[in-house]
Amino acid sequence: MTQPLFLVGARGCGKTTTGKALSAALGLHFIDTDHWLQREARMTVAQIVEQEGWEGFRARESQALQAVAADSTLVATGGGMVLAQQNRCFMRERGTVIYLCAPAQVLAQRLEASPEAGLRPTLTGRGTVDEVAQILAERDAIYRETAHHIVDASLPPALIVEHVTRALAQGSA
Ligand code: ADP
Ligand code: MG
Repeated sequence: MTQPLFLVGARGCGKTTTGKALSAALGLHFIDTDHWLQREARMTVAQIVEQEGWEGFRARESQALQAVAADSTLVATGGGMVLAQQNRCFMRERGTVIYLCAPAQVLAQRLEASPEAGLRPTLTGRGTVDEVAQILAERDAIYRETAHHIVDASLPPALIVEHVTRALAQGSA
């Protein structure tokens, strides 16, 4: 497969973790849009949001998506990447989109256990489970509509890799 593969889903679904394992298994170059844009801006996501607002961050996110989408590349996107219609269309047309889908409780547990969880500014100012449930309620349909394939992201990474690989093989059969 030469077209890029895009991983979408809420924060904590494993776009970075599973993405790395998946890119190794498929022999794809791995890029994380959040990492790319932070390097480019020389600011953390929190600093960008503080200085430029979420609007500024979203603009940078769209730029990052366009810049990193290359053949033979797996792109782990930020959780809000799908919010812009332009990004949704771009990903669907440019390559294959996978939704890593997991329930709010699983996502919240992972975020609370992860040392990086606190680095990201909260979108709602509420507790983790409430916030994740609210964001998922708002975005689940958008993730589904954007994806060519939906995979259960509450499984261990190795199994997710297996499921994605199978879905891709079926998709191109
Ligand atoms: P995302 O990039 O989608 O925000 P991450 O890959 O950073 O998610 O994962 C968030 C946290 O959840 C990390 O601590 C990671 O180790 C853990 N994690 C990710 N995927 C899984 C999985 N399939 N099973 C168990 N833990 C996972
Ligand atoms: Mg990530």
